[in-house]
Amino acid sequence: MAADIDWASLGFGYVKTPYRYVSNFKDGKWDEGGLTEDDKVVITECAGVLQYAQQVFEGLKAYTTVDGRIVTFRPDLNAERMVTSAKRLEIPPFPAERFLEAVDEVVWANRDYVPPYGSGASLYLRPYLFGSSAVIGVKPANEFQFRLFATPVGPYFKGGVKPITIRVSDFDRAAPRGTGHIKAGLNYAMSLHAIVDAHNCGFDENMYLDPASRTFVEETGGANFLFVTKDKRVVTPLSDSILPSITRRSLCYVAEKYLGLKVENRPVRLDELQDFAECGLCGTAAVISPVGKINDHGKEIAFPSGMEKMGEVTQQLYDTLTGIQLGKIKAPDGWIREIKK
Ligand SMILES: *Cc1c(COP(=O)(O)O)cnc(C)c1O
Repeated sequence: MAADIDWASLGFGYVKTPYRYVSNFKDGKWDEGGLTEDDKVVITECAGVLQYAQQVFEGLKAYTTVDGRIVTFRPDLNAERMVTSAKRLEIPPFPAERFLEAVDEVVWANRDYVPPYGSGASLYLRPYLFGSSAVIGVKPANEFQFRLFATPVGPYFKGGVKPITIRVSDFDRAAPRGTGHIKAGLNYAMSLHAIVDAHNCGFDENMYLDPASRTFVEETGGANFLFVTKDKRVVTPLSDSILPSITRRSLCYVAEKYLGLKVENRPVRLDELQDFAECGLCGTAAVISPVGKINDHGKEIAFPSGMEKMGEVTQQLYDTLTGIQLGKIKAPDGWIREIKK
């Protein structure tokens, strides 16, 4: 029985679903864990997550393919990335195999909330790990919780694709040798002021530069950049403080193996942006969101692809990757994980 939801008008907001997965780490080990209907987290007022932001998270989607299967896209990479993130914040990693089981269980239990094929909507999954025991002197907690909940989200491009305008930010996102490469709530906490300010100034997003020299492009608050040159090479910025987007890595593979394009992952200078033909932001939410303009302190870089549609190569990348995700194009081995009883 499908849930009574108008998938097309659904936005990106939290909608409670019946089941979530919880496991607790105590006395040096993760407990058995399992599904629960309880959406409330009860922790001490002094929990490590509340005092010193000891938290990491992931984000992925479940959706229905053209032939009616419920699937997730490369969840093994989310599991692996969460292990890396956890280690950097002194959180005991949640084992990757158990992460995948939790994904399967939560999606299956909430299968009525997986939107149908063609709706453009999906079931967003949010796994996260946090310090749950009391910490007042600065140190890691010794008890932790892993949770994974699901919330249905609407189509990203409602009413059609609209290229966005971004500005070069005067704030930095991640310090050199800091935590920019891990998926932690703390990286988002510090981006909130910058994004509110960008919106107040009429921009959709911030482009962050490398904080050491401010000459190279890093990423936005929650998505990696992808550029296309005039001779159709795909270029993505290389830096130790960029979060390794699974979507970006998948798009680079698709560019090379499906579209026969050359791909370069290398440092990208701010002053070479004007030479690119197309620009997009890659992440689970949109797959690729086209960028029409970048504003660098009043100096505007307008990509030839314009403000009406995606660039040609961006569109091909988008169509191919979404085609793979939805089962319309044959996926590379191991990219699609079917969820079944
Ligand atoms: C999650 C995230 C991305 C996108 O990664 P995907 O795996 O493609 O969803 C990009 N940048 C940052 C900072 C992120 O947190």
